[in-house]
Amino acid sequence: ATDDAVFDPAAAGPCAITTSPDEISPAYVGFDAYRARGGYRLAAAVASGARPADEVLKAMTDSGLRGLGGAGFPAGRKWSIVRDYPAPRLMAVNIDEGEPGTFKDRTYLERDPHRFLEGMLIAAKVVGIDACYIYMRDEYHGCRALLTKELERLRADPPFELPLIELRRGAGAYICGEESAMIESIEGKRGEPRMRPPYIAQIGLFGRPTLEHNFETLYWVRDIVERGPAWFSGHGRNGRKGLRSFSVSGRVREPGVKLAPAGITLRELIDEYCGGMLAGHELYAYLPGGASGGILPASMADIPLDFDTLQPHGCFIGSAAVIVLSDKDRARDAALNMMRFFEHESCGQCTPCRVGTAKAAQLMQASHWDHATLEDLNQVMIDASICGLGQAAPNPVRCVQKYFAKEVV
Ligand code: SF4
Repeated sequence: ATDDAVFDPAAAGPCAITTSPDEISPAYVGFDAYRARGGYRLAAAVASGARPADEVLKAMTDSGLRGLGGAGFPAGRKWSIVRDYPAPRLMAVNIDEGEPGTFKDRTYLERDPHRFLEGMLIAAKVVGIDACYIYMRDEYHGCRALLTKELERLRADPPFELPLIELRRGAGAYICGEESAMIESIEGKRGEPRMRPPYIAQIGLFGRPTLEHNFETLYWVRDIVERGPAWFSGHGRNGRKGLRSFSVSGRVREPGVKLAPAGITLRELIDEYCGGMLAGHELYAYLPGGASGGILPASMADIPLDFDTLQPHGCFIGSAAVIVLSDKDRARDAALNMMRFFEHESCGQCTPCRVGTAKAAQLMQASHWDHATLEDLNQVMIDASICGLGQAAPNPVRCVQKYFAKEVV
């Protein structure tokens, strides 16, 4: 690793994955370089009380930062809720990043790991956390090696008293990205989602109140507090506020992680951040939120992309994994691919999801879809599945029925 490489998140703009999962990123901001540029000063001030916890909490709330793993729960409110439950409190950090098309957490982690660690330590101090458990997908070998190394550096020369920090390895299950399944997995159990309530803020990891965050949510904490909440909320387009890291893949010239204003439209994202469509390809459809977020036609490429803006159209942005399809693709093929993925990744705990995804995948192979039976399955999965996997699995099916009906009549 080279310590002199600086990654400025504010100027990040488009960036692409350059390493394989087995390699440690060749250029990232290591511990010494991070500290030399003022890193951990804010966390130390929060730890000593020089920067009051309430002030930090207010900045987080005012920034409007929402959970960037997909659920979009306001981060500041989450901190307040967990802080109000009795100690000991724990933190669980989600770096499972299993949503198809999502690679933003890895991109940031392999460039600037201490920005995330500092955000985590600030959150821990403000909320009164005793131990932080970082859950990373097994496939991120290089990231794990990098984080292990940098955690050792941090522990060897701590800028202040650190809480217990443990790095735990996932085992390749998509469902372990669901917060309660992740917690089960960290506890050493089979990764199956829990019924709620109780919510994990109250009874979470090892039965204790738990602050659960996606990697990227914590990554922005330092910048928001240092630069002020208006810096973050001052970005945005089409009436939306904040920044979003779009993982863009598919038929565009320059795929990669694009740090762009919340509320940008797909058309703007492709034209301004991705160099346009690939030569010979015309925009046909797009997935705004990975496998679970549905599929929209090119005629709807001018909707602002953000939390809440896509729900009226039967879609959601989730972790902002945008997959672009062209006239060389079919939406029904993408939908079938996703349903097979859900069938494979269903934890099997509840019948509507376990059987529904398998049955739907079977039905979707027919050239003419049995719409009545598929809709029956859709409704049962939505109404009776325990977690978001089963509840969101019908999204691509319904989108094809609604927007690409000519493909499946
Ligand atoms: Fe498991 Fe699917 Fe039920 Fe979720 S909805 S608990 S993944 S079977």
